[in-house]
Amino acid sequence: TELRTTPAVSAIPLEDMDRRHLLHPHQWGASPERTVMVSGRGCTVRDVRDREFLDVSGAGNWACQVGHGRAELVEAGARQLGELAYFSGFFGFSSDKAVELAARLAGLAPDGMDRVFFTSGGSEGVETALKVARLFHHRRGEPDRTWIISRTMAYHGATYGSGTATGFPPMQEGVGPNLPHVVKVSPPYPYRAQEMYGSADVTGYLLQELEETIQRIGPQRIAAMIGEPVMGGGGILVPPDDYWPRVRELLSRHGILLIADEVVTAFGRVGSWLDSPARGMAPDMIVTAKGLTSGYAPLGAVLFRDEIAETVAGGDAYFFHGHTYSAHPTACAVALANVGVLEKDGLIERAHVVADWFREDLAGLTGLPMVGDVRIAGATAGIEIVTGPQDATPVMAGAVTAEMRHRHAVILREYGPTVVLSPPLVIERDEVRRTAAALTDVIERLRPDGTVRQ
Ligand code: PLP
Repeated sequence: TELRTTPAVSAIPLEDMDRRHLLHPHQWGASPERTVMVSGRGCTVRDVRDREFLDVSGAGNWACQVGHGRAELVEAGARQLGELAYFSGFFGFSSDKAVELAARLAGLAPDGMDRVFFTSGGSEGVETALKVARLFHHRRGEPDRTWIISRTMAYHGATYGSGTATGFPPMQEGVGPNLPHVVKVSPPYPYRAQEMYGSADVTGYLLQELEETIQRIGPQRIAAMIGEPVMGGGGILVPPDDYWPRVRELLSRHGILLIADEVVTAFGRVGSWLDSPARGMAPDMIVTAKGLTSGYAPLGAVLFRDEIAETVAGGDAYFFHGHTYSAHPTACAVALANVGVLEKDGLIERAHVVADWFREDLAGLTGLPMVGDVRIAGATAGIEIVTGPQDATPVMAGAVTAEMRHRHAVILREYGPTVVLSPPLVIERDEVRRTAAALTDVIERLRPDGTVRQ
């Protein structure tokens, strides 16, 4: 099927109506620009003005692993809407699709992690994991274990719990009091090791900081630590190999749970079904969303180690937590089709091929004076913009992504000073080349004040 085209005449009213009526998620300032999308196939999307863009962002939000417009997902969703669009998962009700999907996810998870709770997205999943961490200790007779450790530069969501765990202060400003008993430690940021830690020993510094934080609060008062295996919104921060195994060991010594936030990293985004086991996190809970349905339906999942599920919801324990749309049958049907396509088309393996293309094509960018660092993790890459080779002051990258969109019709996202590539895993060789060439052109014209020379 072809991309739907829209008569350009409808574009202006739609953009005006958007400005008048739509409050956008994460709306920064009063920029009047709107890009109203109407259709997509593969890595191509089209807006109301009939402009065609190359989507190297994963539908603008790290999603769309299988590409836009995949018939299998469309058909699975449509079929389920016709058969049984929705039925509550409360009080012992269930649906065949929710059961099948839970079993499928348990099969992908490490041994002994067999129980799954479904949510409508990542924030609800993080919220669930934080509540379950506290409840687990409470039910085991340690009600004082209430503290949560997270990290600065982490993104965990926008609800009160997940938003407090998020390591960007604007998320907490003006909406307090936020969730009590949340403490932040530093993120692993090898590129800025000297300035952040005063040492090249990233893991050594971070372990010491973590141990000091635990001792300051009191080991018996801490419920859990939450962390992304690779930090996405922080700008693709890849930890040293020994970071997670050593963090895990330290937490275990103090009876502290570890929650892996895999909302971004799972389902092939960084090269595996689930990234945290491979990185040595041995998590007690895994939260995921986005790639679970490739973004085709709003769905998140929390996977639990069996002991945790048993403690909070086993026997006659009452688990008073859940949402109307938890385990939504249509979203679960779409997720099952998505997992099927990822497997059938070998898209998890393809993430490694995309990573190789990134390494080949983006390597040249490191020669540009304003590129400080290029970080690649599977089918995602971050290009950190700085003032120059002598001065690594970060430069906000908004003008780069705007110019990529306007001049080159390539959609990317910026996270502070980092330009992020997070394409559908079906991206083609020439599409990666085109993106790299366009980035070279734009960054060559970038000035240290963050504007682009025309
Ligand atoms: N965790 C991580 C790592 C994320 O990147 C996000 C969203 O980008 C979330 C949690 C929150 O997910 P959602 O926006 O679906 O609530």
